[in-house]
Amino acid sequence: MPEEKKVYRCEICGYEVEVEGELPEDFVCPLCGADRESFKEVKK
Ligand SMILES: [Zn+2]
Repeated sequence: MPEEKKVYRCEICGYEVEVEGELPEDFVCPLCGADRESFKEVKK
């Protein structure tokens, strides 16, 4: 069964992160410090 990768983008600074499944609840943007709520999934 293939791993499902998702890309999330910080709406504040544009930082993108790729994770398997959901972004962790405590994820914080390493560039601008925005919390998870500022990240939106990028549909490829
Ligand atoms: Zn950011």
